[in-house]
Amino acid sequence: MHQSRYTIYMPIVLLNVSAKLACQFERPTACPYCGSKRVLSWGQVTRTIQDSKPIQLEIHRNFCEYCKHTFRSYPPGIDRSTYSLRFRRLAGLFWLMDLSCRDIVDIFQEMGISINRMKIWREGQNLVNYLTSRRIISFSNLWSLERYVGMETHPRGSTSLAVCLEPGHYSEIGTIITSNPLLVVSWLKAILKDLDIEVLLLETKELTDISSGNKNGN
Ligand SMILES: [Zn+2]
Repeated sequence: MHQSRYTIYMPIVLLNVSAKLACQFERPTACPYCGSKRVLSWGQVTRTIQDSKPIQLEIHRNFCEYCKHTFRSYPPGIDRSTYSLRFRRLAGLFWLMDLSCRDIVDIFQEMGISINRMKIWREGQNLVNYLTSRRIISFSNLWSLERYVGMETHPRGSTSLAVCLEPGHYSEIGTIITSNPLLVVSWLKAILKDLDIEVLLLETKELTDISSGNKNGN
């Protein structure tokens, strides 16, 4: 653990993913194939889901007495993937913000999560499709991240983006060239809504005394 690189004033947009996912199992009310309510519990399987920490989950299997399909039911924020929805969205977001797949692999590694470039690229495509179909944001106005631009280069007019995995553990993601961090916050809130990701705007001094979890910093 070492001191954060934030040494002078700089606004920080913090993506807080430290809240645990509520992984409550809910019995399905109807079969997703035929809509029948005659659904039986059909055992369960244990899966490891990659979130801010790996989560062990019981995934329930169900059987429809009417159409004879078996299907699994997942808690909110989880699906067939071995990564939680919110971490896949983050991978897609960093890609959308112009980071290379290689940089994103490194960022995830620093957070203790292994992910490959193809997965990141696919999450980027998924995010673009999601945002397009719901007309959530305009693609003519995208914020981009610069991975290694320090405050020395842009002492004014830049905002840092960081992720908080657990209280006291921050990973710096990159720098956004803007003197209006509030615009970035509302843009990110639109993209990350419905997920357990809190978007906070902090001032540097609120983070200065906190050790950074970023092993890449100097
Ligand atoms: Zn059915």
